[in-house]
Amino acid sequence: MINEKMRELGARRSVIRELFEYGKKRKNEIGAENVFDFSLGNPSVPAPQAVNEGLTELIKNESSILLHGYTSAQGDASVRGAIADYINKTQVECVNADCLYMTVGAAAALTISLTALACPGEEVIVPTPYFPEYKVFIERGGAKIREVPCDKDFQLDVAAIEAAVNEKTAAIIINSPNNPTGAVFKEENIKALCDMLKRKEEELSRIIYLIADEPYRELVYDGLTVPYLTKYYDDTIVCYSYSKSLSLPGERIGYVLVCPRCKDFTSVYQSVCGAGRALGFVCAPSLLQKLLPKVLGEVSDVNIYDRNRRLLLDELTKYGYETVRPDGAFYLFIKSPSGDSSEFCERAKKFEILIVPSDDFGAPGYARLAYCVKTEEIERALPAFKALMDSYK
Ligand code: PLP
Repeated sequence: MINEKMRELGARRSVIRELFEYGKKRKNEIGAENVFDFSLGNPSVPAPQAVNEGLTELIKNESSILLHGYTSAQGDASVRGAIADYINKTQVECVNADCLYMTVGAAAALTISLTALACPGEEVIVPTPYFPEYKVFIERGGAKIREVPCDKDFQLDVAAIEAAVNEKTAAIIINSPNNPTGAVFKEENIKALCDMLKRKEEELSRIIYLIADEPYRELVYDGLTVPYLTKYYDDTIVCYSYSKSLSLPGERIGYVLVCPRCKDFTSVYQSVCGAGRALGFVCAPSLLQKLLPKVLGEVSDVNIYDRNRRLLLDELTKYGYETVRPDGAFYLFIKSPSGDSSEFCERAKKFEILIVPSDDFGAPGYARLAYCVKTEEIERALPAFKALMDSYK
């Protein structure tokens, strides 16, 4: 018998993917230069030079078995060791290879972590707006999503999160820099959240895991840094990915990090390994694993995204669009002039602008614009954005 839940997921693509496919069709019809596609977080900035050099060096110098053979299920020990050393150096942490589990990107890291830590019937708190796949990943394992709105500046509303914590709370997912808002949660905001979670753990006598989803960690502007959550809260699991920081989303490489101070660390790490096994997420791509020690610390040119961010902010606000200034990632979350996100995005299509309605992000009334495109594309799109806003006047 077919699993009806899975069939439904397959039959109805995510809104983002749907729009991306529409964009491909439209580009064939009227030419790619006439479609302003801001639908997908697919980095346009090339991977750093060190990535290609590292891959070439590996292919030239390493044996095929070493490069393309199976690694340990949780990933090559020396690769995990190199990543652990890098984290210790940059974050003044104290992790080791056995805190890490290599994955095919953040998506697998999240699915593994949620499978490992949230049981059927339990709840996972997700501040809204959020990356829509969280709901799919949480519900797949039989847990329930508990949405809690952020404040007006898209920072965490700690009091509202506290009110949502209960004896069924398994975890909370924090994504900073954030998709879709571009918000970076401030240190005092994170501290307040972690203090509250510690208090709640005591009060409820249960562990509440903090899952830090961090594919955008390095994509921050104006000299900002992103607090590393293990420093504030021991029961933290970091889901990291190189998809955005190295512009390698199609290569699928990332990891789960279990904080070594997690209560019952051994059981948590074993659970992560077990979830990876049960889901078939073992032995992440070997070639990409072997590349990582050669490119740790490299980041794609963030200045290009920053230039796009400034250009869009300046121009769109001039035209009358409302948004909160993003400090990281490569998304702008714009208020719908009509208050209706679907109406706004459908109308934008008439101007060949592809932006994603916010309903599936758990925050109706907005649209997400992914500005990880070429600056020229933004420049070409500006008159269309102006005409779109003028159509509301
Ligand atoms: N989490 C967030 C917030 C994302 O925006 C994305 C991808 O866009 C992912 C997770 C999945 O990342 P990956 O491509 O590494 O699986």
